Amino acid sequence: MNKLDVSVVVPLYNEEESLPELVAWIDRVMTRERLTYEVIMIDDGSDDGSWEVIERLKKTFDSIRGLRFARNYGKSAALYCGFEAAGGEVVITMDADLQDSPDEIPELRRMILEEGYDLVSGWKRKRYDPIGKRWPSKFFNWTARRASGIVLHDFNCGLKAYRRKVVKAIEVYGEMHRFIPILARKAGFRHIGEKVVEHHARKYGYSKFGLERMVKGYLDLISVMFMSHFGRSPMYFFGGLGTLMFLFGGGTTMWIIAAKIWKQCHGLPLRPVTDQPLFYLAIMAVILGVQLFLAGFLGELINRGSSDRNKYLIDEKL
Ligand code: UDP
Ligand code: MG
Repeated sequence: MNKLDVSVVVPLYNEEESLPELVAWIDRVMTRERLTYEVIMIDDGSDDGSWEVIERLKKTFDSIRGLRFARNYGKSAALYCGFEAAGGEVVITMDADLQDSPDEIPELRRMILEEGYDLVSGWKRKRYDPIGKRWPSKFFNWTARRASGIVLHDFNCGLKAYRRKVVKAIEVYGEMHRFIPILARKAGFRHIGEKVVEHHARKYGYSKFGLERMVKGYLDLISVMFMSHFGRSPMYFFGGLGTLMFLFGGGTTMWIIAAKIWKQCHGLPLRPVTDQPLFYLAIMAVILGVQLFLAGFLGELINRGSSDRNKYLIDEKL
C-alpha cells in the first residue's frame, strides 16, 4: 500500500451525534483536495452508541478505521494508540465534537510539507467556550509558555498537525495530551509553529473535562518541566538538593558543637543543645539530605531499567 497523504486521528468519548457530520465533512475536504487519507477513530470506552455509529459509517466510507477501548482510558491514551496506528505522511489530530474544522487540514498539511514545520498547533484565537474555561486557559498557556520557552498561544488545542516521525517518537501518557508540543520539543523537534484556526461552539453533547482540568493541568505541567530538565538524570536534582540540605545540617551541627565547646572553655553559661531549636533543624536537614540522595539513587536505578533511556532522535544518516 502506498503511503497515505494524511491520517486524521480522532479521540472520542460519547460523541455519537457528531460523528456522521464529522466524517462526511472530512471526506468532503479530502476529496476536494484529492488527498488519500484515513480517519482513525478511537472510541475511548463510550457508553452511548458511538461504536455502532462508527461501524455503520465504515460501510459508507472505506477510509475509516476504528479502535475501541475496553473502558475510558482518557484522551492521551486514545491519542497514543491513534499515533501508533497512523500510516499517513502527515498526521492530524482533531476533536470529535465538531468544535474543530476539517477545512483547516489542507493548510496545516501545507505548513508541514512546505514550510518545514514538525508540528503545527491550532490556535483558537476566537473561542466559543464558556468564560470560566477561557480565562483559566489563558493563564495556563501563559505559564506553559514561560516554563517551556515554546511560544504557543494554545497548547491544548485539539487540532494539530504532525510530521509522521514526530508522532512515532513521542509518548503521550497520563494526561499529557495538553503538553504534546513540549514533549515534541523534548524529543528534539525544533520547528514548532501555530496557525489560527476556526473554532465552533459545541453542537451536540457536553464537554468531557470539568474544572478539575485546571488543577490536573498545573500538576502535569510541573511534571513535564521536571521530566524535561531532570528526566534523564534525576540525581542532578535530588543529589543537588540533598547535598545542600546535608551541608546546611552538617555545618549547623558543627557550629552548635563548636559553640558549646568554646563556651565551656571560657566558663560561659551553657544551654543544653536539646533546648536549641536550631539543633532540631540541623538534624532534620541532615536526615532530609540523606533521603533526597537516596531518592536520587532510586531515580537512577529506575531510569536504567526504563525502556526509553536510549531514545535518541537521529535527524540524518549517511
Ligand atoms: N475525549 C476522549 N476521552 C475522554 C475525554 C474526552 O477521547 O476521556 C475526547 C472527546 O470526545 C473530544 C475530545 O476528547 O473528541 C475533546 O474533549 P471535549 O470536547 O470534551 O473537551 P473540551 O473541548 O471541552 O476541551
Ligand atoms: Mg470540545
